[in-house]
Amino acid sequence: MSTLGHLINGQTVVNAQRTQPVYNPATGQAHKQVALADKATVESAIAAAHQAFPAWRDTPPAKRARVMFRFKELLEQNAERICQLIGEEHGKISHDAAGELQRGIENVEYACGAPELLKGEHSRNVGPNIDSWSEFQPLGVVAGITPFNFPVMVPLWMIPMALVCGNCFVLKPSERDPGATLYIAQLLHEAGLPAGVLNVVNGDKEAVDTLLHDARVQAVSFVGSTPIAEHIYRTATANGKRCQALGGAKNHAIVLPDADLDNAVNSLLGAAFGSSGERCMALSVAVAVGDAVADALVEKLHVAMQGLTFGVYSESSNDFGPLITRQHKDKVVGYITSAERQGAHLVVDGRDARVPGYEEGFFVGATLIDRVTPAMDSYQAEIFGPVLQVMRVATMEQAMQLINDHEYGNGTCIYTRDGEAARYFSDRIQVGMVGINVPLPVPVAAHSFGGWKRSLFGDLHAYGPDGVRFYTKRKTITQRWPSAHIREGAEFSMPTMK
Ligand code: NAD
Repeated sequence: MSTLGHLINGQTVVNAQRTQPVYNPATGQAHKQVALADKATVESAIAAAHQAFPAWRDTPPAKRARVMFRFKELLEQNAERICQLIGEEHGKISHDAAGELQRGIENVEYACGAPELLKGEHSRNVGPNIDSWSEFQPLGVVAGITPFNFPVMVPLWMIPMALVCGNCFVLKPSERDPGATLYIAQLLHEAGLPAGVLNVVNGDKEAVDTLLHDARVQAVSFVGSTPIAEHIYRTATANGKRCQALGGAKNHAIVLPDADLDNAVNSLLGAAFGSSGERCMALSVAVAVGDAVADALVEKLHVAMQGLTFGVYSESSNDFGPLITRQHKDKVVGYITSAERQGAHLVVDGRDARVPGYEEGFFVGATLIDRVTPAMDSYQAEIFGPVLQVMRVATMEQAMQLINDHEYGNGTCIYTRDGEAARYFSDRIQVGMVGINVPLPVPVAAHSFGGWKRSLFGDLHAYGPDGVRFYTKRKTITQRWPSAHIREGAEFSMPTMK
């Protein structure tokens, strides 16, 4: 069985005193193992990044960007291999993995604009013969900790932007599917990245704690579940680091009576069951306004769900794949069972999913639960599986209240033909990313990604313009060159333009 190691100072390091199996979720078999870094291994990665920083900081942004141009080409040329690695460790179907990769590449493309993004702000003559400008300097060594559900896209939210801003990076990917992440890190070196600028350490809590406590690490970007996000944010900031920690979600779609119901059903199917519901932007709750809408919606979903297919990643006719681990499958099944016990109506039950030839795979079929109420455990928690719950309310205000009362505020969507209602909704809803007839409103690379409430700890969102701000510190320089025409005496009052 092969062992996935670390990438430190441009070299593969397999330091495997502790290891963990990596499963193919479709077969249910461990086919690789991953080394779990100890404190000393993580410290060697931080040291490599620290040593590489002065030269990388002084490399012109245009040259840093050129590495990203080559990296983008390599990602495209090796797309098939990347998607295969994603599929065999995460389980998502090849077309979905290709979508993940493409969204990641778009972040690389945005980072290619580094010379433009970093050119700063300049004001001439803020006073007599005085010019002032702000520039954006790198932080130093920064760290990223990423989740299993996007092993390529989420690292690409962080790495390209951090690097073109002049930082050096230590990434700790998910230990459940690290293969594709390691592979793209190798491609970045093939693209010309100097050794030590990007280091990847595989591991668990020990690796993360080392990153959080090491004084050389200036900032931490985290994406994962809310309890861990909160822990990371508190610990990193208590240790004086800048931190952005993106957490979990419960994304609601409101269906108004005037909505195009067929369109809503189609887009709900993809957004609820795509990637087996293992997306932080998955729509997991449909809030129908009025019983007539609810009845029609449930009926149409029920019919359409009969046509969904799930199975192994390599068969692109499948709509979605298995869940990541057996434990996660058990958790998802547990939430379906609890909803039924607590009085919800199970319309389509995916608990007994079977895929011929893949009987040991971690599959759960698409599940539809109607008449869910706010007190139910399945409503309170993020299920992160192919489960769509339907709630029934009488008014749009009640639907919005439900969303605003929920602890998470990542994404949401409204289906309507009424522009006024949509505008009212997007103005007042307490959620960071809003779709209007768009089920997965994941911002494109030129915007930034982030939720509200307990879906994000920190101030700056991921990638896009906020990414530039997160990975740089502003310095403002005010300059005067003495002139023969202007001679000033000592000035004891606060300098002004008056
Ligand atoms: P997770 O929180 O279990 O793990 C995320 C990372 O934290 C991994 O690298 C893991 O090794 C590390 N980690 C886990 N436990 C830790 C601990 N006790 N101490 C220190 N580090 C620890 O999340 P996951 O299961 O990999 O990913 C799914 C979650 O991520 C879902 O909740 C999903 O909503 C969320 N997510 C959020 C976004 C977003 O942008 N808001 C995007 C993708 C995923």
